Amino acid sequence: MHCPFCAHPETKVIDSRLVADGEQIRRRRECISCGERFTTFETAELVMPRVIKSDGTREPFNEDKLHAGIQRALEKRPVSVEDVEAALVRIKQQLRACGEREVPSRMLGECVMAELRQLDQVAYVRFASVYRSFQDLDEFRAEIERLSAPLPLIRPEEEA
Ligand SMILES: [Zn+2]
Repeated sequence: MHCPFCAHPETKVIDSRLVADGEQIRRRRECISCGERFTTFETAELVMPRVIKSDGTREPFNEDKLHAGIQRALEKRPVSVEDVEAALVRIKQQLRACGEREVPSRMLGECVMAELRQLDQVAYVRFASVYRSFQDLDEFRAEIERLSAPLPLIRPEEEA
């Protein structure tokens, strides 16, 4: 590929290693003209199943959206970029491994929850509380009712 600094057509690979459980190759490159170094990542492009939303509509699998959702749950949590990347790779593997052309969004959500549970308990609870409030309305309603239940009344004799 062309050097992103000077656009020279030739760069050489100075280091190459497997990352994300071997699903990705990270290459360190150096421009033979200006000497600048940069990194490229290489992954196999495989077809992901489409996602069936709860209202029945279908949408293409969107890795950026998935990544953003996980990042939001992990905000200010001590989890490395490498661990997040590896979790994303495993989620995609699971979706492909099911062999379906379309998968329910619920299944995607459950894959994410399983990964977050391993990565970080706080992030898991954050994600689960948002996710479940949309997925399982009855459970959400029960939780709201529990939170909004009236406090026990103070008996008049205790006020005096
Ligand atoms: Zn260059």
